[in-house]
Amino acid sequence: MSFGKSRARFQMEAKTGVQFEDVAGIEEAKEELQEVVAFLKKPEKFTAIGAKIPRGVLLIGPPGTGKTLLAKAISGEAAVPFFSISGSEFVEMFVGVGASRVRDLFKKAKENAPCIVFIDEIDAVGRQRGTGIGGGNDEREQTLNQLLTEMDGFEGNSGIIIIAATNRVDVLDQALLRPGRFDRQIMVDPPDAKGRLEILQVHARDKKMAEEVSLEAIARRTPGFTGADLANLLNEAAILTARRRKEGITMAEVDDAVDRVVAGMEGIPLVDSKSKRLIAYHEVGHAIVGTLVKAHNPVQKVTLIPRGQAQGLTWFTPDDDQTLISRSQIMAMIMGLLGGRAAEEVIFGDAEVTTGASSDLQRVTSLARQMVTRFGMSDLGPLSLEGSQEEVFLGRSWLNRSEYSEAISARIDAQLRAIVDHCYAQTKQIMLENRLLIDRLVDLLVEKETLDGDEFRQIVSEYTNIPQKTLVTSP
Ligand code: ADP
Ligand code: MG
Ligand code: ZN
Repeated sequence: MSFGKSRARFQMEAKTGVQFEDVAGIEEAKEELQEVVAFLKKPEKFTAIGAKIPRGVLLIGPPGTGKTLLAKAISGEAAVPFFSISGSEFVEMFVGVGASRVRDLFKKAKENAPCIVFIDEIDAVGRQRGTGIGGGNDEREQTLNQLLTEMDGFEGNSGIIIIAATNRVDVLDQALLRPGRFDRQIMVDPPDAKGRLEILQVHARDKKMAEEVSLEAIARRTPGFTGADLANLLNEAAILTARRRKEGITMAEVDDAVDRVVAGMEGIPLVDSKSKRLIAYHEVGHAIVGTLVKAHNPVQKVTLIPRGQAQGLTWFTPDDDQTLISRSQIMAMIMGLLGGRAAEEVIFGDAEVTTGASSDLQRVTSLARQMVTRFGMSDLGPLSLEGSQEEVFLGRSWLNRSEYSEAISARIDAQLRAIVDHCYAQTKQIMLENRLLIDRLVDLLVEKETLDGDEFRQIVSEYTNIPQKTLVTSP
């Protein structure tokens, strides 16, 4: 029966030696985790007033952004032991071993509370159950079930905080995300230029640098680098420096190290500055429409930091509890979505437009179609000609198209086209009328990589003489 136990291979570190000051460039995530540290230090302060502390915290972000480091820093700051195990280790184990290892891990953790239990790559065990080919991986499911049982089995205030890391939150079993489990989710994004500078400062602390080396310049030159890439970069530079028998790292070593790190990375985004500018124009196109068209939701931030498939992103603050949406709001949404393509076309010309707008155009078409066929918002009048959005997604509406005649179908297409053409013409007009402003915003975005909504609106207001208050802003 001690089979599982003897192979128990979780790690225990009494002291991680990592502090918050060793983690840089991810301030939001750090701030959110301060509370966890406060709890581990003085649980009675929280329990006395009946406050519930999250049992599980899920750190979500691409590899190398500092998730493990962050978890260690929490344990370092709170001066509590750090237990860790990686989800991928469970996968090729014999049936029953994974579950018993989880049991052992939690038994040890309880004996050592307060403490941190860190589960790296939780997606390896935490994938949705029963979705594997051939009925799924029994071992993995048993391990996951054991983990859920353990999480439910101790009170929220027992002093154990479970931190898990993943870059694939979309594949996680919903049961893991339920209240009382990993209900606190924190995004750990790749750093922007300022964040990269801060990370470089952390890793330059123990290295000898020549006077001439400017960390700012390195930060500017390394878009798309994660914290791990930057640490690696300075380490490579130090190795080259030693090999060349120099006193301290000079710009020559940094340059060579950048080349080495870049060569080892896949699909490094935004190094080519022409495409970086194009993406910046595209995003500013979305954001400027969102700021100047009254019925649009306000811009929350514009960024050139890639996430998933997207090279850049514009975030809009959604309306909280709005259930009814007006025709002018939908038109504004369509214009906002078209803003990316319109900017590309107006600035770079017809021949240079890119595939970057494809998902925008999909949403435009879907919105315009629904205006015509579901919401009665076109010249066809108040008719409902199609089922709901979900059916459209399932492809059902394509089967049901025969519900209406070919004649109607042609009129639907004509209406849809009229809506999109009208919105596109207006959107292009916005680009033409605000060309200087757009250039300025793009320069700034290329330099800073992220602009928040207020910064963005302030510049728009300076150029257009429209008072900031009357621009589209959050309430
Ligand atoms: P992840 O767990 O997200 O894959 P890690 O925490 O393992 O990333 O990061 C690997 C190494 O890269 C760290 O040990 C550290 O040296 C460096 N690093 C990554 N992110 C940061 C950061 N935000 N600040 C400072 N160093 C970082
Ligand atoms: Mg890690
Ligand atoms: Zn777009």
